[in-house]
Amino acid sequence: MQIKVENLQYVYSQGTAYEKQALRDINFEIGGGEFIGIIGHTGSGKSTLIQHLNGLIKATSGKILVDGEDIYKDGYNFKNLRNKVGLVFQYPEHQLFEETVLKDVCFGPKNQGLTEEEALERAKAALALTGLAEEFYEASPFELSGGQKRRAAIAGVLAMEPEVLILDEPTAGLDPAGRDDILEQIAHLQRERQITVILVSHSMEDIAKYAQRLIVMNRGKLLFDDTPKKVFTHYRELEEIGLSAPQVTYIMHDLQERGFGVSAEATTVSEA
Ligand code: ADP
Repeated sequence: MQIKVENLQYVYSQGTAYEKQALRDINFEIGGGEFIGIIGHTGSGKSTLIQHLNGLIKATSGKILVDGEDIYKDGYNFKNLRNKVGLVFQYPEHQLFEETVLKDVCFGPKNQGLTEEEALERAKAALALTGLAEEFYEASPFELSGGQKRRAAIAGVLAMEPEVLILDEPTAGLDPAGRDDILEQIAHLQRERQITVILVSHSMEDIAKYAQRLIVMNRGKLLFDDTPKKVFTHYRELEEIGLSAPQVTYIMHDLQERGFGVSAEATTVSEA
């Protein structure tokens, strides 16, 4: 599945005293099977941008083409788009509402028109992918721990078998062990299913470990869109926009260790 974003602009509350331009002239393309990180500080436009990709927000101007089709043309099938582009919001566990975990995860596939049995099969497979233990399938979502709730909520989107999975800060508020585990599961899923994953974060640590491509947002603009290695050569600009030196330095060391060959000189300067 290809998504092409052309000259995208978005203005909140246009024409009022609260008018706020959240996105400016954004251009990029997404192909199949990529693991993309979108990074930027709070308020840089990440959430606004991703909500355009499944049609939740309509651009103020610009175009989005999905497999060549303009999503803003009359009669476009947004339901179909939302089935293909799954969006996991920040704190997705706030959207759990059924009596049991399993029922909750079945909700999406049933809504897609699958039978009870098919939906159950999908739900169980999705829950297994997130690593939630089977003993919790019949529990009330409200009895689960924070990390378990998060897994159940992510499973709810996975069960719809999206071709593109977008996760907005999926590890926010989790302890480091839960955080690493969830990211590992997502990376595993991406490799196994060859789906496109878009991981939104304000943390370089989280993103750089998994993403093959980094999109850096700053003040509503797309600042960089490249491999992590290439993006990290711009460490000065990254520091300037608040993706702080210790983080950048850490990542550069990590990349070096993994053979990405970031220059020692760059690492030294960034530490100074
Ligand atoms: P991020 O996800 O990177 O934190 P957002 O996309 O949430 O950034 O926000 C981008 C900008 O748009 C920010 O300046 C934010 O204050 C503003 N914004 C976000 N949501 C709304 C809204 N519902 N109404 C008005 N302004 C908003």
